Amino acid sequence: MKIYGVTGWKNGGKTGLMERLISEISGRGFVVSTIKHAHHNADIDHVGTDTYRHRQAGARQVILSSPQRWAKMTELDARQEPSLEALVAKIEGADLVLIEGYKTASHPKIEAFRTENGHRPLAEKNATIVAVAAKGDVETPLPLFELDDTGSVADFVLAQVGLSPNSTPGNSTQKNLRNDCFALPQGVDWVPVDEALARLKSCLVSVAKVEAMATRDANGRILARSATAVRSNPPAANSAVDGYGFAFDTLSNGLSLELVEGRSAAGDPFVGKVRSGQAVRILTGAILPAGVDTVVLQEEVTLSNDQVHLNGAPKRGSNTRKAGEDVVAGKEILSAGQKLRPAELALLTAVGIPKVQVFKPLRIGVLSTGDELVEAGAAEMSDHITFDANRPMLLSLIETWGHQPVDMGLAPDTEQAIVQSLNDIGGKVDAILTSGGASAGDEDHISQLLRSKGDLTSWRIAVKPGRPLALAMWNGTPVFGLPGNPVAALVCSLIFGRPALSLLAGAGWQEPQGFMVPAGFTKSKKHGRREYLRARINRDGQVEVFQSEGSGRISGLSWADGLVELPDESAEISIGDMVKYLPYSSFGM
Ligand code: AMP
Ligand code: MG
Repeated sequence: MKIYGVTGWKNGGKTGLMERLISEISGRGFVVSTIKHAHHNADIDHVGTDTYRHRQAGARQVILSSPQRWAKMTELDARQEPSLEALVAKIEGADLVLIEGYKTASHPKIEAFRTENGHRPLAEKNATIVAVAAKGDVETPLPLFELDDTGSVADFVLAQVGLSPNSTPGNSTQKNLRNDCFALPQGVDWVPVDEALARLKSCLVSVAKVEAMATRDANGRILARSATAVRSNPPAANSAVDGYGFAFDTLSNGLSLELVEGRSAAGDPFVGKVRSGQAVRILTGAILPAGVDTVVLQEEVTLSNDQVHLNGAPKRGSNTRKAGEDVVAGKEILSAGQKLRPAELALLTAVGIPKVQVFKPLRIGVLSTGDELVEAGAAEMSDHITFDANRPMLLSLIETWGHQPVDMGLAPDTEQAIVQSLNDIGGKVDAILTSGGASAGDEDHISQLLRSKGDLTSWRIAVKPGRPLALAMWNGTPVFGLPGNPVAALVCSLIFGRPALSLLAGAGWQEPQGFMVPAGFTKSKKHGRREYLRARINRDGQVEVFQSEGSGRISGLSWADGLVELPDESAEISIGDMVKYLPYSSFGM
C-alpha cells in the first residue's frame, strides 16, 4: 500500500485538492482510501445520536452500520491517539492511501497553496513537502503545479509512489503468464478436447488492466470489480397503477372514502398525510403518501361528489411496490467478470452507479502465414495464389468478442519473416493468433520456429477439423498457432480460442451453451476424436449438417448457423437421434 499526503494552510485548498485527486486517481482504476486528521473540537459522533448514547453509557467500541457504509468508533479515553502508521495499517486493500493533514509526519506531501491568503508556503519550512500545487504566483525550487491541474498532479503523485500510468491498478488483477505454461507432460501424444480445454483453463490467467468509465459507455465491457447498489430500487414504496390510495385499515368503516385535494404523481409526490377515511388520487410510479398502504385501480371505483366508492375490497397492499423490493441498497448486484449488456447498464444506472470499473479490452494480434497467400483484392489472379481469408475472419471474430484486433498482416513461410512480425508487435499486444504452418511439415515454420525459440508446445488435439494447435509463449506473449484451413481455423478459434481469450480478458472461462436437437442426418463415426460438423436447424426442427466435411469447404462455414458436436467415442447416428447443437451465437459469434 502506498501513501501520499496533501497538506497546506487553512483555506489553502487542501480538501478540494484531495477531492479532485481521489476522483482522478480512482477514475484511472486505482483503489484509493484516505485518512484525515481532524482538529481538536471536531468529532465523529454527535450528541443525541443512538451511537452517542451507546458510547455515553460506556461502550468501548461502537459499530454503526447502514446499507451504504459502516464505521467502527473506538473510545480513546486516556489512551493516545494512534500513530499514522497504526491508522494506515487499518486500511484494507487500497492501492493508494491519500492523507489529509498530519503535516509533521514523515511521508511525502504536496502542498495546496493560495497566494491570496498572504502566507509563505509551508514548504519553505517543512522538508517533507516535495511539491506545491498553487493558485497565484509562487517561487519555489520544488515541482510546481496549477492548483486546478488535477491530471498533472495525479501523474506526479502516481509516479512518486511508483504507480506509474502503465502500472496495473488493483494490484491483484494482473498476473503474468509462466513461460512454460503450455507445456504438456512427457509422453502425451493425442490430447482429448476436454483435457486440452482443462489445461488451457488451468494455465491461463487474466492479464487485463482496469479502467473506470461512465456506465452508459460500458456496453460490451467486462466488470473488473463487483458493483454494489448505492440506492434501493425502488427507493421508496410507490404505486404500480393509476388509481386511488388509502390506508387498508380504514376500509373496516366502509368502502366510501373522501377524496382529498391534490394528487401523487411520479416525480411530484403528495405532501401531507392521507387520514383515516380518506383516499388520494395516485398515478403509476408515484410515491405512496404518508397514510397510504393500498391502491385500487381507477377502473374499480366510482367517483361522486368528492367521494371515492370502491367496487370491492382489495387486499392489503395491493397495487403497491415496496421500497427495495427489487434491489436493496448495499447489495452486490453484479460480480467481477460479468459482461455488461444493455440490461446491466439499466440495472447499474437504476441503483445509482454512474461509473464502473471495467477491464481494458485485450489487444490481440492476427498474423497469417503461407507463401501462397496474398492480400484480399490483390491484382494477381494466378491459380497458385490463395486469398488470405483467415485474417478478415479472425480480426472480426476478435472484435465481435469485445477485444481489440491488431492486424499483423501476412508473413511468407520463412523463419526470418515470422520472427520479424512477432518481434515487431512484441509488447504491443496481449496475445497473438497465427494461422497456417502449425503442423509438422517442411513448410510449417510457425511450429519449427516457436519450438526452437519460443517455448512451443504443439498440442495434437484429438479433434476434427483441427488437430495441431501450436501453443507458445513469445517473449511473454501467448501465441495460439491455428491450423491454416479456414474451416479448422474457425472451429479451433471457437472451441479453444474463445474461452482462452476470455480468461485472459478477465471474463472468466466461457463455455458454449449447447442443446440437444434431433438429427436430420445419418453418420457413422469412429472412436478416438471429437468431431464438429457445420450445421443448421431446418424447418422441421432437426439439425442438418453440411454435405461435405472437407476442411477446405469455406462455403460450409457460411451455410451453417452453428456446429454439431459429436462425442469422442464411436457413434452411429440415425435420423431423429438426439445430438448436441452449438449455435454460433453460443460462441459469441
Ligand atoms: P497450412 O496449415 O499452412 O498447412 O495450410 C493448410 C491449408 O490452408 C492450405 O491449403 C493453405 O493454403 C490454406 N490456408 C492457410 N492459411 C490460409 C489463409 N490465411 N487463408 C486461406 N487459406 C489458408
Ligand atoms: Mg502453410
